[in-house]
Amino acid sequence: MSGYSPPSTVNSLSAEPVALWAAALTASTIAAVAWQLKSLTAPGAVAAALVGLALLSGTGWGGGIVLGTFFITSTAASRTFPWEKQSPTFGDSRRTAWQVAANGGAAAVGGLIGMAPAGLGWWIVTAALAGAAADTWATEVGKATGGTPRDLLTGEPVPPGTSGGVTTAGTLAGAGGATVIGLVAGAVTGWPALAVAGVVIGFGSMMADSVLGAAWQVRYACPACRAECEEPRHRCGAAAEYQRGIPWLNNDAVNAAATTIAASAGGLWWWLARVAF
Ligand SMILES: [Zn+2]
Repeated sequence: MSGYSPPSTVNSLSAEPVALWAAALTASTIAAVAWQLKSLTAPGAVAAALVGLALLSGTGWGGGIVLGTFFITSTAASRTFPWEKQSPTFGDSRRTAWQVAANGGAAAVGGLIGMAPAGLGWWIVTAALAGAAADTWATEVGKATGGTPRDLLTGEPVPPGTSGGVTTAGTLAGAGGATVIGLVAGAVTGWPALAVAGVVIGFGSMMADSVLGAAWQVRYACPACRAECEEPRHRCGAAAEYQRGIPWLNNDAVNAAATTIAASAGGLWWWLARVAF
């Protein structure tokens, strides 16, 4: 099995890093448009521009295409399936800087590593974005298609939208998200092994996200509604009380941990392919 191709065979799209000025111009323009279209908050747009800058300058236009695929499909998923109608912020699906960092930070590190040594950055970028896409697609489609999610660890039914709760439709959608990112990355680099790594690691990252969410994510309870929630303020407006979980491990932190696990797995896969084959 020759899972790894040397970078000399990489497509020109992803062989050359984009010049810094062109990367900065492109990333900030797209982030500004996303902010205008209310896909990002202003700080979220700044964070997204930095992620784009790292990927374009490290992994070229190809990296930008993979990041764009993640961003466009994730935004489309949350707009196509506007689930939280009872939320006071309904209609505001803008991603915050924390959400951008949790989903794109690990990929940005891969962008900074870039092509040296020998394509390592690409494995990190693809794995991290495949994980982020899988989790986002699973969450949005899972909530929208309904059905009763079950806690991944206990098998108990949980309310829709609960971290660590999974449905069949959501899990299939997540697999679809990982597959799309893997295929796009494989296509722009010309590395079939990268596509395989993206699909496998993206799916694994989504599972890791659910395990972390089910086992250790912080939970609160609203005394007014007698409902469990994941934020210190319930959507009814009342302050919620701590119930269980690690106090600082909120949903963004779980996402950041899952994408970091994915990025690490991508780096490990790259290293194993080099030493083993
Ligand atoms: Zn409440």
